[in-house]
Amino acid sequence: MKGEYDVVVIGAGPAGSIAARTIAQSGLTVLLLEKRQEIGSPVRCGEAVGEETTEKFIPLDPKWIAAEIDTFSVANAQGDTVVMPPMEHTLVLERKIFDRELAHSAARAGAEVMVKARVTSLIKNARVEGVRVNVQGKPYEVRSKIVIGADGTESQSPRWAGLKSIPQLKDYYSAAQYLMTDIDVDPRICQYHIGWSLAPGGYGWVFPKGNKTANVGLVMSVDPKETKSAIDYLNEFVAQRFPRSSILAQVVGGIPITNVLPQMVTDGYMCVGDAAHQSDPLTAGGITNGMHGGLFAGQVAVEAINTNDVSARFLQKYEKLWDAEFGKVYRRLYRIRHAVLKMPEEKMSRIIQQASQLDAQKMSLRDVFLIVLKSHPQLLLEVVPYFLGQ
Ligand SMILES: Cc1cc2nc3c(=O)[nH]c(=O)nc-3n(C[C@H](O)[C@H](O)[C@H](O)COP(=O)(O)OP(=O)(O)OC[C@H]3O[C@@H](n4cnc5c(N)ncnc54)[C@H](O)[C@@H]3O)c2cc1C
Repeated sequence: MKGEYDVVVIGAGPAGSIAARTIAQSGLTVLLLEKRQEIGSPVRCGEAVGEETTEKFIPLDPKWIAAEIDTFSVANAQGDTVVMPPMEHTLVLERKIFDRELAHSAARAGAEVMVKARVTSLIKNARVEGVRVNVQGKPYEVRSKIVIGADGTESQSPRWAGLKSIPQLKDYYSAAQYLMTDIDVDPRICQYHIGWSLAPGGYGWVFPKGNKTANVGLVMSVDPKETKSAIDYLNEFVAQRFPRSSILAQVVGGIPITNVLPQMVTDGYMCVGDAAHQSDPLTAGGITNGMHGGLFAGQVAVEAINTNDVSARFLQKYEKLWDAEFGKVYRRLYRIRHAVLKMPEEKMSRIIQQASQLDAQKMSLRDVFLIVLKSHPQLLLEVVPYFLGQ
């Protein structure tokens, strides 16, 4: 490790690795720092991604694809189920391998990657000028023209940089997930389970991973009045549906679902991925969105350094790139989530129950819209433009 780089990236998740790779590909020097001893592990994720979007960033490789999904299903708490084609062909990843491959691609492009390297603070004067990092227990200072914070959902770097990064509790999901085995599910269907009695303010999922294994998890709204935790709800869900399956791994965590931070840059600093709250404000999926954030921030970092201007004003180009691609959709998804939250469970269940009566072979999204229109016209005002891409 040298004492100075063009860019330092904090965190080797998908967002950080793509940012580091983009910068290295331009010929600038970049250091990618990861606090864990193994990139990609432990996995804290349901691991589902859109195939086409993922392929924009890395050629598909069976070694990190656990399952390919043709369809998804939506079920209510009573078990009525609608099976639909996905909007995008879906993959369930082996993230341990996927994250490592992304970091590897950054290293191949010329980035220097270090593990067991925990950033403890930013070096800040008139602008952010580098990081203090503990590598294998020893403290170092590393200077850079730009620091990119890709330190995930528990990130501290945006706060260190002076950005407002703590969302209100209502804009947080609490998540719990088991990796389960001996599970009897269709290996080509991603299941979503909806009902406030199953997951208040959120939803449950079963994402198959092949070989009779699956990620079974749920997210719920954080509510101080709630007495049960996400893991309590998950235990009930699993006891009911998969009483004979075994648990191989457990994940718990929090996911901000605020829409992105109002400000993602300051002088000499940008944040990306979960650190910038770039996960989808409805589903909380954040892998490919974070990779987009990493790409945009990487591109703007290169431009800023080449023009010798790393001021917040210049780096706002990154916020504009993000907004042009995701701004409108995210604002709409945020509103859809809050409209759905107001819907009583009985109404949601009825919509699913009515849609489950349609002929799955002939059913179109239009038929589902018509059912929603009859039961909850307010919601449709937000949902239709989303599907029409407006
Ligand atoms: C239960 C659960 C299920 C999910 N399911 C899905 C899903 O199915 N599909 C989907 O798209 N998304 C899903 N997500 C969200 C997804 O996991 C995240 O959006 C995604 O990992 C964000 O990528 P990232 O690179 O921003 O952050 P991360 O992947 O969290 O990477 C951040 C990295 O920074 C490192 N780091 C943190 N602090 C420091 C420091 N001080 N110094 C050095 N390194 C540091 C961390 O160790 C970590 O490796 C799920 C999340 C949860 C919790």
